Amino acid sequence: MMRTKAILFAALLLCACTPNNPATAPAANQPITLKTRPKNIILMIGDGMGLAQITAGMYANNNQLHLERCTVTGLHKSYSFNDLVTDSGAAATAFASGVKTYNGAIGVDAAGKSVKTILEEAGQHGLATGLITTSSITHATPAAFIAHVPSRDLEEDIASFFPDSGIDLFIGGGKKFFDRREKDERDLIQAMQKKGYFITHYAEKDFSELVFDPAKPLGYFTADNSPLTVEAGRDYLVPATRQALPFLTKRSAKGFFIMIEGAQIDWGGHANDAQYIIREMIDFDQAVGQALDFAKADGQTLVIITADHEAGGFSITPGSGMDTIVGKFTTDDHTGTLIPVFAYGPGAELFGGVYENTAIFDKMRQALGFQR
Ligand code: MG
Ligand code: ZN
Repeated sequence: MMRTKAILFAALLLCACTPNNPATAPAANQPITLKTRPKNIILMIGDGMGLAQITAGMYANNNQLHLERCTVTGLHKSYSFNDLVTDSGAAATAFASGVKTYNGAIGVDAAGKSVKTILEEAGQHGLATGLITTSSITHATPAAFIAHVPSRDLEEDIASFFPDSGIDLFIGGGKKFFDRREKDERDLIQAMQKKGYFITHYAEKDFSELVFDPAKPLGYFTADNSPLTVEAGRDYLVPATRQALPFLTKRSAKGFFIMIEGAQIDWGGHANDAQYIIREMIDFDQAVGQALDFAKADGQTLVIITADHEAGGFSITPGSGMDTIVGKFTTDDHTGTLIPVFAYGPGAELFGGVYENTAIFDKMRQALGFQR
């Protein structure tokens, strides 16, 4: 262990002497050494995806997941500022902005102060940016990458951050928070269209008919509020992932940052429903497969797959078979176990080991060469 650390430290010192080190390079607009630094980051969050969720999905899927194609695994400590058991708002704020904050917080620190997100910083560096989720786009996980509000419940306030965000692509539910608002009469969809966005929704155009035209930034609402479950027919996460990545590539020559969430693995945990977990897990993993295919072909893309926390205290009990998982649950809430991290592509080596959830933010910034 000490030896590994010594080698790592020596490697870091070595890096500090090269012309492309993060301390001297003017960040993302400089040519980067592609062998060590990615141009693009795809951060994939399986909400509520603990090890048992991954295991159940793997066994139920012929003992195989795309996740297994990752070359580096690590573990993060998911606790929040005020609770050993985090919620998705505090956890996503840790990934997005590198701070431990209170449960329910969205893009603000423990004192309530707004903290810059990696999506915002990527945009400032000229990278294209995106968010895709199987919840509403204003739900806690995506919200923490784009909004700054004291509570995750303020979904209309979260929506109001989108028009000025400069985001290149978003796909998820929650249309009503944009165009049928309770607290004001604003139509944020119209406001974004005026700014040049192409925005449409599930009732107007089926997802399969959506054209990803990189000439304009794109928004697609998959539901008025929460999108369907996989079981009820939701099937956009995989094609959205497949089409978003070349779209973002064309939106900026400098690269892109996207967060893609499988939101409902968590909801299966809250519902204490093993089959719900498994279906959502496999759907998310198929999206992971799309991201890994893109990264493999592209060679300049770092893919990071993790969860915000575990949900349900899910375990796979004796008597289970690969096709007949028998789950048990200790809670209908989240739990506080260590959370796995998987990485692939240039910069993946940063993600081995055991570290705080906030370190994922630091590692992503280091990989992209962003400076403090
Ligand atoms: Mg979520
Ligand atoms: Zn949850």
